[in-house]
Amino acid sequence: MTDTTVTDIANAASSSVDSAGTAHAATDGKFDLVVIGGGPGGYEAAIRAAQLGMKVACIEKRVHKGVPSLGGTCLNVGCIPSKALLDSSHRYESTVHDLAAHGITTGDVTFDVATMQARKDAIVAQLTGGIAQLFKGNGITWFQGTGKLLAGKQVEVTPLDGSASQVLSANNVILATGSSPINIPAAQVDENRIVDSTGALEFKEVPATLGIIGAGVIGLELGSVWRRLGSEVTVLEAQDEFLGALDKGLAKEALKQFKKQGMDIQLGAKVQSTQVSEQGVSVTYTQAGAEKTLQFDRVIVCVGRRAYAEGLLADDTGIKLTERGLIDVNDQCQTSVEGVYAIGDLVRGPMLAHKAMEEGVMAVERMHGEATQVNYDTIIGVIYTAPEVAWVGLSEEAAVAKGHEIKTGQFAFAVNGRALAAGETQGFVKFVSDAKTDRLLGMHVIGAGAGDMVHQGMIALEFAASTEDLQLMTFAHPTLSEVVHEAALSVDGRAIHAIQRKRK
Ligand code: FAD
Ligand code: AMP
Repeated sequence: MTDTTVTDIANAASSSVDSAGTAHAATDGKFDLVVIGGGPGGYEAAIRAAQLGMKVACIEKRVHKGVPSLGGTCLNVGCIPSKALLDSSHRYESTVHDLAAHGITTGDVTFDVATMQARKDAIVAQLTGGIAQLFKGNGITWFQGTGKLLAGKQVEVTPLDGSASQVLSANNVILATGSSPINIPAAQVDENRIVDSTGALEFKEVPATLGIIGAGVIGLELGSVWRRLGSEVTVLEAQDEFLGALDKGLAKEALKQFKKQGMDIQLGAKVQSTQVSEQGVSVTYTQAGAEKTLQFDRVIVCVGRRAYAEGLLADDTGIKLTERGLIDVNDQCQTSVEGVYAIGDLVRGPMLAHKAMEEGVMAVERMHGEATQVNYDTIIGVIYTAPEVAWVGLSEEAAVAKGHEIKTGQFAFAVNGRALAAGETQGFVKFVSDAKTDRLLGMHVIGAGAGDMVHQGMIALEFAASTEDLQLMTFAHPTLSEVVHEAALSVDGRAIHAIQRKRK
């Protein structure tokens, strides 16, 4: 699952290094903890374990742009490179469209994809190199190779450099091998005309027409990058409902905003086949019973990700899998084998870096005898588009389905002074609360900085806040966060900057 081929391992770093920079062969092969996979889940687990005094090894096989690399999907080909390109493309679009209103004249605004990509690559290199430094500083041994769990908490390492494999033994093992993009026969990735999310982060020029298969978080983010830079983007989504897992009000507003930006989002459009030619890719899909075809320069397949456990488990480990091929774990990430944990994208729950990280910390602290528990009810979701879309806790629909009698309140950024001053007036904050107890159940935000603002809701939920708690707090003026206050007030019909008559 390397994101580049292993072309020049000999020129890259040595096959494994510890804090002193010595080869792994020099270790005695015995560890308190062996982590397989150095993504956000695995590397945070390794660092936390080292902090707690454990002797730790982490096995990571990824080679990114010819160099062995820690940080997993997130740092190399996921969260970070996508956000770098989202930021560059947003600055370009905002310079072209937003500055005139401020009286700022720019003349011709141009951009250079190569510079954007180089900036992105430099950020990735800085962060992945930073994890290597943290490993060194914490005395963690990094085995650059492929790990395989054997029976009896032993782990076989096959080094990237082709040297002999060795077997490590551990008191505890964490499986953290993440996920990989789902491929569909209807659109086979050819790394040229048809790419997955990794390929879409490497375009050297802006495709004139771009098809995105799948309107999930990744498809919407990558579609936004290339639309802002000039691609005519069409998103084909099999489901009739847009972002079906979100609060319906939030999803409706997001769809409206993305369409307004010029993204053509086709719902109920199930891709059946693709045909690559010199002209591009012809995509055939069915929609409302009709067969339709569209032609694109390039297509990005974003139909989801699946747990990656290829070659991870020897036959006799006793590790149970779920029906969906995930490693079966309990709420504390323990597998069916004592002392073996599994975390992150490899196990149930949302495929998110922060969820993987906290599971890694929880697993390690549990081994250490602590009672750490991830609160799965307050995992934040964010779509890093503009406006951002973010949520935590229960949607209105989920709260009702769970049997809550609910009350909701919503307040728009459009009348907030700071939002007007910043020209960021799209969207709203919405709260879902329990009508009987007043307890906050969920917060849903679409707007500038939603991904940061939603943390206010996460903290409130963690502290089991009531709606009244937020209503009684003093929010600084003028800030976007005042919309959070007004949304909480509006749950009881008492927002100040809207015509509402107090209901209670
Ligand atoms: P991974 O990050 O996948 O790391 C697992 C590592 O294990 C990999 O590096 C792999 O090489 C290694 N490995 C696999 N098998 C072996 C083996 N046998 N031996 C040794 N090493 C092995 N999440 C967010 O929270 N926010 C975002 O903004 C976000 N944006 C994303 C954008 C994109 C384009 C993509 C693709 C994903 C994004 N994600 C985002 C999801 C996020 O990247 C994942 O949820 C996260 O990386 C999961 O962490 P992990 O540690 O479980 O696995
Ligand atoms: P996510 O799992 O959130 O990354 O989103 C992936 C999206 O891809 C889901 O909304 C799926 O419905 C969608 N999808 C899966 N297969 C197809 C297909 N053949 N054509 C169009 N959309 C698809």
